[in-house]
Amino acid sequence: MGADGVLISGCHVGDCHYVEGNIAAKKRFDFFKKILDEMGLGDRITFEHVSASEGIKWAEVITNFTNKIEKLGPTPVKDVGDLTDMDVDETVSKKHKIHEVLVSIARRVDYEPKKVMVFEPEEVMEGYGFPKRDPDKCIGCYACYSVCPEDVISIEDVENKRKYGTLHTECLVCKECEKACPQEAIEIVPGFELLSYMKQEPLWDLEVELQKCSVCGNHFSPITFGEELKKRLAEKKAVKTIDGLSLPFDPYTTCPTCKRTKLAQAIAEVAQPALATGRKS
Ligand code: SF4
Ligand code: SF4
Repeated sequence: MGADGVLISGCHVGDCHYVEGNIAAKKRFDFFKKILDEMGLGDRITFEHVSASEGIKWAEVITNFTNKIEKLGPTPVKDVGDLTDMDVDETVSKKHKIHEVLVSIARRVDYEPKKVMVFEPEEVMEGYGFPKRDPDKCIGCYACYSVCPEDVISIEDVENKRKYGTLHTECLVCKECEKACPQEAIEIVPGFELLSYMKQEPLWDLEVELQKCSVCGNHFSPITFGEELKKRLAEKKAVKTIDGLSLPFDPYTTCPTCKRTKLAQAIAEVAQPALATGRKS
């Protein structure tokens, strides 16, 4: 709201009328201070535990903080306007509103994040997290992408590679992707970052090579995915069954479009002589 400094104060730990209200407030404070530190505004906010009976301490806290803010001078963040309206309804979550405010502040101080901020799990407020992929385990099956309700996980094919990215701040921490992953390659970790949110584009964190179709030459599915599929079928002794089907294509190196075309051609080759014989008789 354009204040040059903000002091937040609560009772001492163990003295809170609401038992843990001061602990929750301090945790939120530490989380946002870390972000404001990154934007160069962290010195303008402080948190102090002071009890109602500590008049002298309270006066000292106020005096020291006021002196510090006077030295810092006026805040560079002015005119936040309607972003002070923190009404949250069913269409705008509290988290989104907080992001809007943070992004607005970041723009006003020309803060451009260059990298993901690293938070320790105990530093992050409940509800903040994002998927972390293990590149050694991920086979690029995109099950995580299919189940994500918020388009947090993105996929983009560029020539013979498929890129996987994450729009961290949209993550609901619902863990559906974790449950869907057949490789235990994705984990929701507590965390936060402004980079992808400010750029409104995913952070690309994995790239896998795509299989080239042996018929048309187009690239279609991750090689690692096909290899894993073959391995699993072999474990279930199903590879021989598939080989025994005498399919008119190699099931592992043929793209879906060519599979359909080849299958249709094979059916037509069998059906046409039969139909012709049928007509004669
Ligand atoms: S935790 Fe939920 S919202 Fe977040 S990436 Fe996974 S599926 Fe998407
Ligand atoms: S579901 Fe697991 S293996 Fe499949 S793309 Fe996602 S992280 Fe990788």
